[in-house]
Amino acid sequence: MIPAVLPTYTRAPLSFVRGEGSWLVAGDGSRYLDLGAGIAVNALGHAHPALVAALGAQAAQLWHVSNLYSIPQQEKLAALLVEHSFADTVFFTNSGTEAAELAIKMARKSWYDQGQPERTEIVTFEGAFHGRSTGAIAAAGSEKMTKGFGPLMPGFHVLPFGDHDALRAAVTDRTAAVMLEPIQGEGGIRVLPDACLKGLRDLCDATGALMILDEVQCGMGRTGKLFAHEWAGITPDIMMVAKGIGGGFPLGAVLATERAASGMVAGTHGSTYGGNPLGCAVGAAVVGIIADPAFLAEVTRKGALFRQKLEGLVAAHPTVFEGVRGQGLMLGLKCRAAPAEVVKAGYAQHLLTVPAADNVLRLLPALNIPDADLAEAVVRLDRAATLLEKAAVA
Ligand SMILES: *Cc1c(COP(=O)(O)O)cnc(C)c1O
Repeated sequence: MIPAVLPTYTRAPLSFVRGEGSWLVAGDGSRYLDLGAGIAVNALGHAHPALVAALGAQAAQLWHVSNLYSIPQQEKLAALLVEHSFADTVFFTNSGTEAAELAIKMARKSWYDQGQPERTEIVTFEGAFHGRSTGAIAAAGSEKMTKGFGPLMPGFHVLPFGDHDALRAAVTDRTAAVMLEPIQGEGGIRVLPDACLKGLRDLCDATGALMILDEVQCGMGRTGKLFAHEWAGITPDIMMVAKGIGGGFPLGAVLATERAASGMVAGTHGSTYGGNPLGCAVGAAVVGIIADPAFLAEVTRKGALFRQKLEGLVAAHPTVFEGVRGQGLMLGLKCRAAPAEVVKAGYAQHLLTVPAADNVLRLLPALNIPDADLAEAVVRLDRAATLLEKAAVA
């Protein structure tokens, strides 16, 4: 019999009743060190006092009003994001997927309004993840997500990752936009080198194609800059964010330049919940903390510290791990085999990690994780790897 919850997830036999910083507490009181952070969502850990206060204060005042009215909390959060980014304007969504949908619509509308309605194609990359809507699965193109769900939305051209010649050939006067994650998350913490992001920006400038960056996972301070593209010294035309921006409250956004967004006039897009007072009050509290340069410098420092410890772990367990990749606190351990066994061995050590494609174990701790918890995570990973080695020999 089908369960009451649609069984689209393979779930671990774990559940939690409380969260405190980088720890999750099960019903029996046992504590788990959380290096998944709800897949880069709990950017400030669980139950951060400032977020609890922001949510509580807004909840007591006003949860929701329609976008038929002006929403000061939304205006405040939009102004914060504009202040701290390339963007001139922001639309709020409830999720990353919805942000991807708007990014695609916005790019196409921009060319339509410029008298080039045939310019609709979106160039994307193999291994990408932009969400699970019909548009977003077509954008990523992987059979794992698309099989059985056709016909797929047309107009996407999925290129191999890192194939420069294919890219140059694919971006033409029919290309509305190139859409990519500066660091692929689900794809296995695959970092696009700064030089490639710069080259892609040049290619977009030369052809007119818009650059859409999906920073749903790598944005909001995860890499040690507020947005990952800042490392390459470039700016996109359109950017999706979600995950960390709500700190656990469902919130996403599309950030865009005035030029890219100019076609999105009244009536062209909307959302019932997107940008409501409750979500935006929490989002403003999150962004207020993360956008502080001192906070971001700490993310970079913690990321370097963690990475160094992980390099030691890899050296100590060469039959389990192959290497470390990523940036800031968006790190991946490349495993010798599918990471599911390591994730499971981690559970036995009360350590939560997240698998990704390309045999990578994702480590996405809260951005404010104490150094001691990072050290403890490595101790637990070390124990898990030792047990896996023993099991392999036996
Ligand atoms: C998670 C994710 C999405 C989808 O976000 P949802 O909030 O699950 O809809 C899109 N892009 C990237 C890069 C993601 O990591």
